[in-house]
Amino acid sequence: GCLRRLHTVYQSAELPETHRMLRQTCRDFAEKELMPLAAQLDKEHRFPAEQVKKMGGLGLLAMDVPEEYKGAGLDYLAYSIAVEEISRGCASTGVIISVNNSLYLGPILKFGSEEQKHKWIAPFTGGEKIGCFALSEPGNGSDAGAASTVARLDGDEWVLNGTKAWITNAWDASATVVFATTDKSLKHKGISAFLVPMPTAGLSLGKKEDKLGIRASSTANLIFEDCRIPKANLLGQLGMGFKIAMQTLDAGRIGIASQALGIAQAALDCAVDYAEKRMAFGSPITKLQAVQFKLADMAVALEGARLLTWRAAMLKDNGKPFTKEAAMAKLAASEAATAIAHQAIQILGGMGYVTEMPAERHYRDARITEIYEGTSEIQRLVIAGQLLKAYRS
Ligand SMILES: Cc1cc2nc3c(=O)[nH]c(=O)nc-3n(C[C@H](O)[C@H](O)[C@H](O)COP(=O)(O)OP(=O)(O)OC[C@H]3O[C@@H](n4cnc5c(N)ncnc54)[C@H](O)[C@@H]3O)c2cc1C
Repeated sequence: GCLRRLHTVYQSAELPETHRMLRQTCRDFAEKELMPLAAQLDKEHRFPAEQVKKMGGLGLLAMDVPEEYKGAGLDYLAYSIAVEEISRGCASTGVIISVNNSLYLGPILKFGSEEQKHKWIAPFTGGEKIGCFALSEPGNGSDAGAASTVARLDGDEWVLNGTKAWITNAWDASATVVFATTDKSLKHKGISAFLVPMPTAGLSLGKKEDKLGIRASSTANLIFEDCRIPKANLLGQLGMGFKIAMQTLDAGRIGIASQALGIAQAALDCAVDYAEKRMAFGSPITKLQAVQFKLADMAVALEGARLLTWRAAMLKDNGKPFTKEAAMAKLAASEAATAIAHQAIQILGGMGYVTEMPAERHYRDARITEIYEGTSEIQRLVIAGQLLKAYRS
């Protein structure tokens, strides 16, 4: 069970054999295929199409999808490890695969009909096609229940109108899960989820957002203007959309926590490597206690966040509630990543501030992990809500 596995992980600080092998495969891939390219992808805002295809071949695009739908048939612990290792090589690539795994395939796997699973999952597992998840709007992000995008039934078709904002993978995706209101009077209980192919008539893309970090992943508005989709593209029951979105984000937060771990690990690696070589006052700066204390604090924050993330993943794998634990993991890992990337720049001094070294990219990439899939403030609300509920019951 979960506790026994967790115990093993704590005791031996090691993972099961399958997961260790997967970690090595992902690490090798990231070091060979992503690290040498990451700075260029970032600079050019370029989607790593070729690498995404290769990752599809390794099973990294559909990790917990059963083999009958062409997935890798692994678990969420495996997914967390893969996203961390890939993000260590390139954080943009990390979010690209995280969105496909958790936010696009996740809700279809959990709420889709058998027919929908075959149609909307299998083609999105091999890296040829990727999906996206459209919940946020220009007027509401944290307050996702206030969705103003509407879906109206007209004969055998749903007609969608409205704008979704900040959609990761938008320019590179072949389908989206989109949330729209079918009955405004029911507020969040009037929201439903739909499957929309891309491109399709009545759906256009906004400009690519010019972002601080994760610049190789595209982010854009999805604009629906009388966009017609078949009635059969409703995902789950009518009015179930908000629940689908919240459950999807619970799982997605494990992916973002893992992305943050990868960025943090890359920043720590970079800081140690540099500090061992950099001489000041006659010796490497790793001889300075001030630098050692920084490295120690960075390592503690990183390893604590990693254990929280693995615990959340293992709870999910064991069918246990994990809402609070996923929020804790995401909060701890994202704040660790921004703090570690910040200190990495400090340790590199001037070299931390220029693009010759990756530290400045890690700093820029880390920042988003405190914002998307629920800001740090929203994670604290989720954690406190769950905590108080447990005390009161
Ligand atoms: C690069 C990028 C990629 C993204 N990808 C996607 C995607 O693929 N799909 C998608 O649907 N969305 C995506 N998002 C949207 C993202 O999830 C939202 O930006 C985020 O949820 C915050 O919403 P907001 O920007 O509207 O901020 P707001 O909700 O306006 O929040 C502004 C500030 O107010 C605080 N705040 C709001 N409500 C509360 C509260 N109740 N208590 C305390 N503080 C509060 C917030 O924490 C924040 O500090 C992405 C965003 C970015 C920047």
